[in-house]
Amino acid sequence: MYDVIIVGKGPAGIAASLYTSRANLKTLVIGKDGGALEKTEQIQNYYGTELNITGKQLLENGWKQAENLGTKLLTEEVVGIKVEKTFIIKTRKAEYESKVVLLATGTNRMAPKIEGVREFEGKGVSYCATCDAFFYKGKNVGVIGNGNYAVQEAMELLPVAKSVTLLSNGKELPQYRTEGINMNSKKIKKISGEKRISKIEFSDETVLDIDGIFLAEGIATSVDFARILGAQISNNKIVINENMETNIPGLYAAGDCTGGMLQISKAVYEGAKAGTEIIKYIRKKDNVK
Ligand SMILES: Cc1cc2nc3c(=O)[nH]c(=O)nc-3n(C[C@H](O)[C@H](O)[C@H](O)COP(=O)(O)OP(=O)(O)OC[C@H]3O[C@@H](n4cnc5c(N)ncnc54)[C@H](O)[C@@H]3O)c2cc1C
Repeated sequence: MYDVIIVGKGPAGIAASLYTSRANLKTLVIGKDGGALEKTEQIQNYYGTELNITGKQLLENGWKQAENLGTKLLTEEVVGIKVEKTFIIKTRKAEYESKVVLLATGTNRMAPKIEGVREFEGKGVSYCATCDAFFYKGKNVGVIGNGNYAVQEAMELLPVAKSVTLLSNGKELPQYRTEGINMNSKKIKKISGEKRISKIEFSDETVLDIDGIFLAEGIATSVDFARILGAQISNNKIVINENMETNIPGLYAAGDCTGGMLQISKAVYEGAKAGTEIIKYIRKKDNVK
């Protein structure tokens, strides 16, 4: 078991790991890729970057620094997190367990631009299968998305729903499949209904009767995980206190996913603060036993 698992290997996640690893906490950082910084050609406004370092260079320096201090870095996509006595972090390949989780996956995925999505939010359109599957017992549901996260959400719905259809909305269907999930690759024109959604209308003029739709495009973000774990969210950002704690004990968040200034300096500050607070939390928890 790890003391802390950090989801995201951008500046927020890595900054936190520098503190936790130096304090001898067993630290695992799981990140899919380089996040926002990987796309940054030149950084001129972060302290100490006089030579116009690229985002990729800055990232790689951070990764090496973290590994030299004993942090374990994994390149994997996290598709689910559960909390019981400890946290269980699920990737496509394995499950990992920790006492604490820091969410640091950067900014959030936007809702797909499909007519009807906003109108029916909370009236059949949901962002969280773990939270809302129960309401769709014996009903026909759809999951919009074509990645691992969409498949994971569809799997959460399978035991309760009458039927589950994965809708890739004109994109390629996922390679990774599970028995029992229907696949539909048609382009969606709109979602419609009266008080609640009842139909998906496709561009080829066909229609699918549906009781609920779960949005799971792209990869899961910190906000998706926070929602699954029951943490407070406001304006699509994770609500934290000055110690980077969410309202769920042992669950922290840092960086772009908490809103405010979307800059490296703020991500590094929040990561560092989360790291120091996690050290205190774990020491206190371990001493209580
Ligand atoms: C084009 C561009 C230029 C920028 N230029 C500047 C600049 O000059 N100066 C400046 O200060 N800021 C700049 N920024 C902003 C800066 O990059 C961000 O504020 C900063 O990177 C945020 O750090 P973060 O750690 O919160 O998130 P990110 O750096 O976005 O890191 C997120 C991490 O989470 C991982 N992740 C996401 N979802 C999952 C999942 N489901 N499973 C596993 N891992 C996951 C990603 O792979 C990545 O490792 C720029 C941003 C962009 C896009």
